Amino acid sequence: MQQNGERMIIAVASGKGGTGKTTVAVNLALLLSNVQLMDCDVEEPNAHLFLDPVIEELKPAYTQLPTANYDLCDYCGKCATACEYNALVALPQKEVMVFRNFATAVGYVPWYALKRKN
Ligand code: SF4
Repeated sequence: MQQNGERMIIAVASGKGGTGKTTVAVNLALLLSNVQLMDCDVEEPNAHLFLDPVIEELKPAYTQLPTANYDLCDYCGKCATACEYNALVALPQKEVMVFRNFATAVGYVPWYALKRKN
């Protein structure tokens, strides 16, 4: 939104879901003119449900997932212990299971036997 030629950015944020962020942001957007609304919720963007916009372009988004390199993996389970999303389970002498829905953020792969894949 521009006021007096200056762009104004309003951020509606909260660490917790279900607090009304989308409701506030959508209603602000509807109230004001010349507005660009960006729903940056990486897990559940839902502002479009309120606005029914015309989708002009869709771009695929990718997330990297860990996968075990079984040539190196000794099934120690450290990756599973370290994962704060509980996205990994190391089954002794079997496999390192990755729960895709939990593996949202793989910024740091602590151990040599894990690699990232798109
Ligand atoms: S991937 Fe690495 S950290 Fe995970 S069980 Fe295998 S060796 Fe251990």
